[in-house]
Amino acid sequence: MKKDCLFCKIASKQMDAQLLMETDDLVVFKDINPLAPVHLLFVPKRHIRSINDLEQTDGPILEGLIFAAKEMAVKTGVNKTGYRLFFNVEKGGGQEIFHLHMHMIGGWES
Ligand code: AMP
Ligand code: ZN
Repeated sequence: MKKDCLFCKIASKQMDAQLLMETDDLVVFKDINPLAPVHLLFVPKRHIRSINDLEQTDGPILEGLIFAAKEMAVKTGVNKTGYRLFFNVEKGGGQEIFHLHMHMIGGWES
């Protein structure tokens, strides 16, 4: 846990969020400023700054994020209408919260 990291605080329940799913390794919550009818964030509990800081041994973390997305796609119904998964990496890539997270956006009419 990194002091003053918003997503560490949400993952450890020191701050509220609209939590939709939790496992030993990750949390999923609604983005506070949604860009689409469905906008979720998939966040590993362990503090990792960005994709740039991933180690080879972190493979299972990424796997967990993708399978959580698959599950949440069914729960929110976007599995039928389609969705995008993406990571913003560092400032130039649009990253504003420097704790690794994957976005899921979707839910538009198709
Ligand atoms: P990024 O630009 O990839 O770092 O994305 C950060 C995302 O976190 C943005 O889409 C914000 O709207 C979202 N966000 C910021 N603060 C919160 C919060 N307290 N709860 C939920 N989402 C948040
Ligand atoms: Zn953090």
